[in-house]
Amino acid sequence: MLFSLTPKTKKEDLFDRERELKDLEKLLETYPIVVITGLRRVGKSSLVKVFLNESDLLHITVDGRRLYETSGGNISSHHLTRFLGEELSRISKSQKLLNVLKRVRGITVSGTSIELNPKEFSLSDLLEKLNETAKRRKKKIVIFFDEAQYLRYYGSRGGNDLLALFAYCYDNFENVRFIISGSEVGVLHDFLKLEDYSSPLHGRGIGFLTVRPFTFDQSVDFFMEGFREVGEKINFDVEEIVREIDGIVGYLVLFGVKYLEKKNKDEALKEVFHAVKALFEKEMEELRKRSERYPFILRQIARGINTWSALKNIFRAKGDFIGDSRLYSLLETLEKMSFIEKTQSEYRIVDPVFEKILSE
Ligand code: ADP
Ligand code: MG
Repeated sequence: MLFSLTPKTKKEDLFDRERELKDLEKLLETYPIVVITGLRRVGKSSLVKVFLNESDLLHITVDGRRLYETSGGNISSHHLTRFLGEELSRISKSQKLLNVLKRVRGITVSGTSIELNPKEFSLSDLLEKLNETAKRRKKKIVIFFDEAQYLRYYGSRGGNDLLALFAYCYDNFENVRFIISGSEVGVLHDFLKLEDYSSPLHGRGIGFLTVRPFTFDQSVDFFMEGFREVGEKINFDVEEIVREIDGIVGYLVLFGVKYLEKKNKDEALKEVFHAVKALFEKEMEELRKRSERYPFILRQIARGINTWSALKNIFRAKGDFIGDSRLYSLLETLEKMSFIEKTQSEYRIVDPVFEKILSE
């Protein structure tokens, strides 16, 4: 069903994304590591889940948030190994991995459950085994780290130990692939640290796929199909709603769900704004922790102070003599995290709902 609030897992529930599915397949053939970027609720998790379920690749999903929570906020290699073992137990039957893993020292298979003995077994051993297993079956094994912003709590060096392991896999295990996604602020800024020269991944080619909001027409079609699917005859103009909330599919779904509940478009719209506002506050808080200047810049851009020099002047006017290269890098980071977009010489806020909230 299109109007469902959890990430999609089946192709029949995924609206469009044909091109992205193909692109992802190609990227994984080329790059050992593929990073999926895009605004919150734009459909990153859904895209990857559907892709993996539809493909004949072996695959494991690691939800960074769950890993973080079950490890009490400090993720060790022990935790991750155990977590991967549990995931392997879940998938091995359907992906016919059990028989292969049975023969590996340090792995106990009882019934359909797999246990890894972390004493005999390091994380890189496990990846090596997975690589061999995949190779023997002439397949690739994909490990999908979703909500990867939480991986900065891996080890004691902001996730660098895990990045070093990724780098090692990159160079040595050609049948292991990683897909990395999650909140852009956290993933790009805090975990991957790609611009950082000392990051273990620096200089290695990485595939990037950006999931974009639906176009106006796609969004209208999405609503029509969603309402048709549940047999709801609507008596309002969906174009008007799309003009308000634009093409972020998570918001479209939320509108659909709320409309079906309330049968009132204005109330449904209000609920969407309410939910987005909560998300917005959380993200601003995250940004603020990194620099007070981020939310300030976003507010200015939403107010129309949207060129480099106008921004520089407004900082000056409040007594903040920010250096050129610093301002440049803040803007660049906001752009990378898809908060803003540059058109010719002007910046603009990408998400229209955010823009509205910012200029309130
Ligand atoms: P993200 O991982 O980018 O935050 P999700 O994949 O969790 O986004 O999707 C957010 C919401 O939008 C969920 O309700 C999901 O079911 C829905 N959704 C995402 N992509 C699609 C799609 N292509 N078709 C239908 N619904 C989608
Ligand atoms: Mg997600």
